[in-house]
Amino acid sequence: MSNRPIYLDCHATTPVDERVLSAMLPYFTEKFGNPSSINHIYGWETEAAVKQAREILADAINATPEEIVFTSGATEANNLAIKGVAEAYFSKGQHIITVATEHSAVLDPCEYLKNLGFDITILPVKSDGLIDLTVLEKALRPETILVSVMAANNEIGVLQPLAEIGELCHQRQIIFHTDAAQAIGKIPLDVQTMHIDLMSLTAHKVYGPKGIGALYVRRRNPRVQLAPQQHGGGHERGMRSGTLYTPQIVGFGKAVEIALAEQETENQRLTQLRQSLWEQLSHLEGIHLNGHPTQRLAGNLNISVEGVDGAALLLGLQSIMAVSSGSACSSTKTAPSHVLTALGHSEKLAYASIRFGIGRFNTQAEIDLVAKHAIATIESLQSITVS
Ligand SMILES: *Cc1c(COP(=O)(O)O)cnc(C)c1O
Repeated sequence: MSNRPIYLDCHATTPVDERVLSAMLPYFTEKFGNPSSINHIYGWETEAAVKQAREILADAINATPEEIVFTSGATEANNLAIKGVAEAYFSKGQHIITVATEHSAVLDPCEYLKNLGFDITILPVKSDGLIDLTVLEKALRPETILVSVMAANNEIGVLQPLAEIGELCHQRQIIFHTDAAQAIGKIPLDVQTMHIDLMSLTAHKVYGPKGIGALYVRRRNPRVQLAPQQHGGGHERGMRSGTLYTPQIVGFGKAVEIALAEQETENQRLTQLRQSLWEQLSHLEGIHLNGHPTQRLAGNLNISVEGVDGAALLLGLQSIMAVSSGSACSSTKTAPSHVLTALGHSEKLAYASIRFGIGRFNTQAEIDLVAKHAIATIESLQSITVS
C-alpha cells in the first residue's frame, strides 16, 4: 500500500475502473480508425464501437441512440445546451431560469447570456439545498425558454425533484435541461417519465475517462432545436463537429454499463459507509450536516464545523485524507462555496466545511481511520479557538 492520503474526493473525479481501461485499450492502437471513414474496416469497427456505447448511454436514460451527442464532458454539454437553446429560441423569448447552487458550468454560461441581454432568474434553495417548486412555478413566464436545474449537486449531493420540475415545464412547453454529471450511474434517470429535454453527462465522475461526456437532446415531443457552438465536419447531426474520440467513448459506455449493473448494491454499501462516517462525526460540538439528510447521493457527506478556521482544518486533514471544501472547480478561488452560502451559511462557516465523496474503492476501515483523524483534528482546532 502507498502512504498517499485516502481518496475521498469522488465528486471531483474518480479513477478509471480497470474493466473500463481494458475495454478502451484496443482503440488506441490496432482499432484506431476514424468512425466516419465509411470505406474500410478501420472505420467500420470503430463506428460499431461508438454505436454500442451510444446505445448503452441511451438505454441508461431511456432515450434513443440518435439523441446522444458526444462532447468533451459536462462543461461542454452544459454550454451547448444553454447557449444552443438561447440562440435557437431567441425569437420565442429571452428568459432563462436556473438555481443558485448550480455548477459554474451552468451559472457562467447564464452569466454570459445575461451580458448579451438575456433575462436570467436564479432561484434560491431552501436550507436543505432543494428548490421550492412553488417558487419555480411562480418564476415561469410566457417568454421563458429554458429551465436548467441539476440532478445531483456536486458539493452537497442533494437530488432535485426532476420529475416535478419536468412536469411544470412540459405543461408550459418550456425546455427543461438538467446537468446530470454527478447523477449518471448513481441514481435512476428517465428522460420520458421525468420530462427531460436536455441532459448533460460526463464519464469521469463514474469511473470512466476524463475528456468525454454527452448531451442528450430530445428528438420527439418536442423536437429540441439547438444552435451548434462548434462548427466543422457536421458530426453528431451537426450539433457538435469534431472527430469522435473512440477510446474515450468506449470507456464512457463501459463505465456506465458497470455502474448501472452495480447501482443498487453499490448504493447500499455507500449509504452504510456514509452513515457510519456521519454517526462518528455527529458527536462533535457545533457540527452541521449540509444538504437534505436522505434525498442525496449515497456517497456524499458534507459538513460544516463551528469554531474552527477553514484553512487550518483542510491543512490538518490533508496528510490522511484527500477531501475538499467546496467544489474542485471553485477551489482555486478564495471565495467561500456559493452552494454553502446559498444554504444560508455565513462565509466563516462555509469555509469551515468538508466535502467527503465516498466511492467504489473506499472501505469501512478507511472510513474509520478518516473519522478518527477528523475528530482529533477538529477537537484540537476548536480548543485552540476557544482558549
Ligand atoms: C464535474 C461536473 C461538471 C463538469 O464536468 P466536466 O466533464 O469535468 O466538464 C459539471 N457539472 C457538475 C454537476 C459536475 O459535477
